[in-house]
Amino acid sequence: MGHQSPYEYSAPLVYIPLSIVVLWKWTLRLPPPLFAGSITFGVLLYGPALFYGSLSNVMKTTLAKLPEWMKAPLRWLVTHVRAIPYYGTGRVCPVCTKSSRRFRTYGAVARKEAECAHCSALERHRLLWLFVSRRTDLFDGKSKQVLHVAPEPCLATRLQEKLGDDYITADLYRPTARVRMDITNIDYPDESFDVIYCSHVLEHVLDDRKAMREFHRTLKSDGWAILLVPISADVTYEDASIVEPQDRLKAFGQEDHVRRYGPDYADRLREAGFDVAITGIHDLADDDEILRMGLRHASGDIFYCTKRRTGAGAGSKQL
Ligand SMILES: [Zn+2]
Repeated sequence: MGHQSPYEYSAPLVYIPLSIVVLWKWTLRLPPPLFAGSITFGVLLYGPALFYGSLSNVMKTTLAKLPEWMKAPLRWLVTHVRAIPYYGTGRVCPVCTKSSRRFRTYGAVARKEAECAHCSALERHRLLWLFVSRRTDLFDGKSKQVLHVAPEPCLATRLQEKLGDDYITADLYRPTARVRMDITNIDYPDESFDVIYCSHVLEHVLDDRKAMREFHRTLKSDGWAILLVPISADVTYEDASIVEPQDRLKAFGQEDHVRRYGPDYADRLREAGFDVAITGIHDLADDDEILRMGLRHASGDIFYCTKRRTGAGAGSKQL
């Protein structure tokens, strides 16, 4: 979805010089050594582009139809081949800790320095990883029940390695998630989780307030949740009467979004009973790290939620 690459753009350039050389041979009877040299030059110069262009197009259409067990090794292969042009230093991804020449351009509206060539982590995933590594107890080695909703593969594989069996992935549709879950009706008892992470899901959910209350209910009293959404409006805008995909695209920026959130998103989380601490990129990293780790404005802010504590004798009981 929305992959942009200089190699895709340059793939047609393969055909043009090679066609010229072939025509030249046929029409002008080019001497054999010069012909062979030209072909070799063309293949060396544009071969990778041809290979990459064909490979990525074929893979995109066929990958979706393959059974799950075949997808993982193929993805591994494609990922490694696609990373070749990005080998180098200057950038480092906090998620996979690998370095590269630069991050890949990505997005329906192309963003430069967006996607890690090795693990496909985007800006917001890298910021999230940096945040949980530096500011939370997630990786302190103690056992924790962690709920990850709509698990992004780049994060899920590493979280699984680090957290083991206590790490639960959940999704309404994706069969690769460990449990099937409707976040407006979570089938777990109160105070089940030490950590809940749910990113870029609530903008798809009609009753997002109910989902927030469900997260609040199932979070342990001393637990924490990171609940992220794209903030793309001055004030939250929603209209339940807009249901057609094309109309939603126009109104909310994506065919399956049901609202645009504004900075007042935090107030909705507070209504659900959370205390919300907002951390921006500059609170977490210096300018050099922001450049090297590709944490730009598209990373958004981190909304870190804990259950609001009522003071002794405050008299206002939480719902
Ligand atoms: Zn990475």
